[in-house]
Amino acid sequence: MSVDENTPVLRGCIKLPLNKEELIEVTAKAKDYAIMHGAAMRSKTSFSPDSLNFAPFVLVPSSFPRKEFEKAIVLQPIINRLMHNVAHDEEFITTTLAETIKVDEFTANLFNIYRKVLALGFTQAYSVGLLRSDYLAHVYEGCAIKQVEINTIASSFGGIATHLVPLQNFVLRELGHAEKLQRMPKNEALAGLCDGMVKAWNIYAKPESVILFIIEDISYNICDQRFHEFYIRETYPHIKVLRRTLTEVHNEGKLGQSKELLLSGNTEVAVIYFRAGYEPGHYPTQGEWDARYLMETSLAIKCPSIQYHLAGTKKVQQALAQPAVLERFINDPEEMKAVGKIFTGLYSMDDNEVGNANYEMAMRTPEKFVLKPQREGGGNNVYGLDIPDALKRMSRVERSAWILMDLIHPPLSQGYMIRPGSDVPPQIVDMVSELGIFGVVIGDADHIIHNYQAGHMLRTKLSTANEGGVAAGLGALDSPYLIDSDDEDGYY
Ligand code: ADP
Ligand code: MG
Repeated sequence: MSVDENTPVLRGCIKLPLNKEELIEVTAKAKDYAIMHGAAMRSKTSFSPDSLNFAPFVLVPSSFPRKEFEKAIVLQPIINRLMHNVAHDEEFITTTLAETIKVDEFTANLFNIYRKVLALGFTQAYSVGLLRSDYLAHVYEGCAIKQVEINTIASSFGGIATHLVPLQNFVLRELGHAEKLQRMPKNEALAGLCDGMVKAWNIYAKPESVILFIIEDISYNICDQRFHEFYIRETYPHIKVLRRTLTEVHNEGKLGQSKELLLSGNTEVAVIYFRAGYEPGHYPTQGEWDARYLMETSLAIKCPSIQYHLAGTKKVQQALAQPAVLERFINDPEEMKAVGKIFTGLYSMDDNEVGNANYEMAMRTPEKFVLKPQREGGGNNVYGLDIPDALKRMSRVERSAWILMDLIHPPLSQGYMIRPGSDVPPQIVDMVSELGIFGVVIGDADHIIHNYQAGHMLRTKLSTANEGGVAAGLGALDSPYLIDSDDEDGYY
């Protein structure tokens, strides 16, 4: 993505560049600190289950406007409730996704499970939302945060993010800047998310039952997942954790007399935590879809249940950004206003009058937009000037699988991005940070019984990259250094 050359640069945490010798030394220490404290991943290029690389990280924490960070924190319980209400609104989900599922096979498959479960009646009334709401600050509105998306399935990095604050604290202390630590907010994402699963386990209330993690065939982001598992095992040693792929659940899973999910003989599953199942590749055969369906019809408490998964689709996000729609889910006018402000323009591409007008707008001024399909996991969007060609290749009906969104213009920050195999010493690069706030919400259709904000993560990418998937290549883990606006220069 070409960044406007006038994009402002946020005031940094410390003065850069660092002196070369100091930089080389602290980088080497930080890499080892990262590996030794689990800020790590499996290598994609030379995968081995016996070894780890450090996860890409930013050496010194990137700046983020304090006021906006605090706003996101305060909003999270409201967003949790919003998503919970959306997930339980059958009529809304059905009408919102009606056009999308005509052309998007993956969403249609999820929706079919939903429809079948609805017809049978939900065996388990409770759902757990382990959400992550992602934001970019928008320079044209005084760095006000704008929501990029909301994740309702496999919201990751809560584990590693928790360990990244100590890593960057260590670096700052090594560099003689211990006084900077006070501007780095505490992060208890791991405990917050795991405690959510344990609360669900308590609701299920069977002492012998276990928590099941649904995983991919190969887990590159293994540390993040293991942190969750180990935290649960260490903090609540009486609760066992199992890890299974969808294929394994298909092969060994069955339902008991009261529709309990039983694995490996007769181990009863209380809670299912999906770290896979959010993209088509996770369902290579009908067997994996059958496994998902089996789990949905079971008594186990799902994070997320199918209705929560559907509530997290981009199409639902687009529908929610219309004030009249938001009103349906949030009663308090102040809350509605606050949530409305974090939405940027989101536009339907459905084959109707409104959708066709939006199509014309995208063709006329593509540089203002990003085009998104109903996919998760990064690398699927189409940006700016690439949009017209992409749209021209689609039929009118195919377009309705996509949504259009205003491009958010985040401020830059400058720093050192450390990646396995990258140059030593690292160069200073221009970067952009995306803030994720975790939330936990547990309840049934009528009541919410737990609702809290559960920590944060910061993912930083090169400013030249459209997307910053950490595992994918151009992103790095980070944590926020909170800066206040001064009267003259704002945050710059
Ligand atoms: P995914 O489900 O693949 O994570 P996202 O909606 O989060 O999809 O988009 C992926 C990435 O694309 C984001 O992390 C962000 O870097 C970039 N992006 C998405 N929407 C916008 C936007 N409206 N403006 C600027 N960048 C965006
Ligand atoms: Mg995303």
